[in-house]
Parts: sequence; structure tokens; C-alpha cells
Amino acid sequence: MNSTKYLMLIPDGMADWKVEKLGNKTPLEYADTPNMDEIASASSCGLAITIPEGFEPGSDIANLTILGVDVRKYYTGRGPIEALARGVKGDWLFRCNLVYVENGIMVDYSGNRIENSEAKKVIEFLNREKEWDNIIFHPGVGFRNIAAINGNFSKAPVTTPPHDITGEPINPHMPRDGELAELIKEVIKWSAEVLPEVTDKANMVWLWSGGKLPEFPKIEERYGLKGAMISEVDLLYGIGKGLGMDCVYVDGVTAWIDTNYRGLARAALKSLRNYDFVVLHTEGIDEAGHEGDAELKVEAIEIYDEKIAGYILDRIDLEEVRIALLPDHPTPIKAKTHVAEPVPFAITGKSDGTKAFSEKECKKGKYGLIDGLKIMKLFVS
Ligand SMILES: [Zn+2]
Repeated sequence: MNSTKYLMLIPDGMADWKVEKLGNKTPLEYADTPNMDEIASASSCGLAITIPEGFEPGSDIANLTILGVDVRKYYTGRGPIEALARGVKGDWLFRCNLVYVENGIMVDYSGNRIENSEAKKVIEFLNREKEWDNIIFHPGVGFRNIAAINGNFSKAPVTTPPHDITGEPINPHMPRDGELAELIKEVIKWSAEVLPEVTDKANMVWLWSGGKLPEFPKIEERYGLKGAMISEVDLLYGIGKGLGMDCVYVDGVTAWIDTNYRGLARAALKSLRNYDFVVLHTEGIDEAGHEGDAELKVEAIEIYDEKIAGYILDRIDLEEVRIALLPDHPTPIKAKTHVAEPVPFAITGKSDGTKAFSEKECKKGKYGLIDGLKIMKLFVS
């Protein structure tokens, strides 16, 4: 009987490019990461392509790919995945950011980091004030909310993630292509008129990545493993639910550098007792990348190394728990957004001589450059 447990650690957006300010090292190379290096030293490593050609480098695409889901077959949008997470139903489901726009420029995709309680008030206000019967806004986490739209529309509109147009005019990026696009454009414009009445954190909603609910292949059916998902964001819980995994929630998480690391690490350890396959996805490092702040990203990586990787390593036996460590995609601080480039990965079990967890070192690893869809096979079989 195989009693091996599997823990997949996904520090969102951790991979990066060389940064001049950091002596031409990547934040991961520059940061002091003894624990992730220890994982790499017990691993065979490589680089994985997590964004299939033709797809935007979103966390949804990247995480689905590393969890073995072929997005070319199964993906319908980010909004629908987050709707899965919240149990929200509807014909069309969109991510609905609360954003801040000034003089037609996207200033802040996160509504100045609006807090849950205030965001919830905003969502209630929108539902009260709106004139459309077929649209319902649903609260999520902070600026990350959902809009459900009912109706017989022929296709999903083309939309742009707001974090991709920070500092840019919004007009060229308004939803387009079809009736549904026209409707959500109206909603966005309307929100700009009414939001100042209720908050000064955000002055517009931004609907994007809409589609119908997806049907992903289940982890248990494919790999015979009972799975648990731990994260700080709806997106990953939606993916987890879509894959038939149980969702384990942690109090006090912020999806930022000040999150409840202890709670997240403990939830992973506890889940390993009850489940075969545990995913621990954390968000803070990615947000530091979006900020374009090299020092902050290095700090976030070092905290992750100590409080997640180190805390867990101290409490498990690598003979019993196999670890896969990999970011979903790079979020280079120079780009301030995700890029579709390969990520370093380490899978414990057999050392290939790799000594450090970094883009450069993993590239020299045994596996070389692989399709991210193969990660699950390498990991659990
Ligand atoms: Zn991501």
C-alpha cells in the first residue's frame, strides 16, 4: 500500500528576471532561502511551461496546468472559477474588481487594498442601486468580487485584466465583442457614477474573464488521491472545488506579505494527516511583484522560506511526505505583471544534485524544460 503523502507548495508569482538593483540576480537568487534550498537539494528539478501557447499568463491558467488540467479543453474563464469557490451560480460569471481610476487611467486594480468589510458594503450598495434584474454582485475577498449575469448571450466578451493596465488609459481596454460586452461596459460606466457615494477606496468596478461554469477532471478519479486545497484567494479554492478537492480555510489570511503564515503552514500539516494530496498556495510574493518593489519581493520570499517552507520542513519527514515546490508563473518586478515564461520546480524523492531553488539552478536540473501538464505525473506517480 502506498502511504506517501504529497504536498504541493505554490508561492504565487515567485519566479522573476534578473534585477540590476539586486546585483543582477533574481529576487529568488538574491534572497536568503535555506529551506527552499534544502527542498531543492532533496529534489530533482527543472523548468516547467505553465502557460500553454496562446493563453494569457493568469494564475488560473498556470495553476490549472500544474494541477494537470489541460486548459485548452476545460477553461472557461477566471470569473467562473471564482464563482465555483463561492458557490455562486449564474449563466455568465465574471470577476468584478473594485478599482481606482483617475482621469481615465487605471491607477489601482485593487481598490487601494479595500478591506473585506468595506468591499462587502460596496457590493451591497451596488445590488441596491442597480437597475439590471439579471445582474447580481457577490462579495469575495477585498477587491476580488464576482458579478453573475443571467441571459442568453451568444459569447463571452473580450476583456482585459485590470492589473495588466496599471498606469494605462482604460478606454482601449473596455470589454468588446458582442452583446454581453455592451452590457458590462454599461455596468462599468454606471459604477463610476455611483461608487463615490459609498467609498473613496474604489471608484469603478471592472468586470473581466467571464464565462460559463467549467467541468474539470477530478483529482481523486485521475490519481486516486484525496485532495485538500489551502489558499488565500477564491481562485485557488474554485480550482480545488472544480477538481473535487476539499477546501481548507485559514483565519487571518490577507493575501499579502503580512498574512497568517503560521495558520497556513499548520493547516497544511494538519491536512496531510487527513488527505493524500495537499496544495498550499500563497499570494503575498505575487503581490510584491505586482508592486514592482524588488526589496519587498525579496523580503516576501525570505519570510515565505522561513515561515512556510522552514516551518513545514521542521515538522515532516521527507521520506513520508513528498514535496513539489514551484511558483505558478513569474511576476517579474520589472514587468509588474505575470509573464508566460517557464518556472523553476523541485520535486523531492531523488536528488539530482541541485543545491539551490532558483530559476538558474533548476534550469540545470534533471528534468530540463518540460510541459507543466506533466508535473502531476512526475509528482504523484
Ligand atoms: Zn499567480
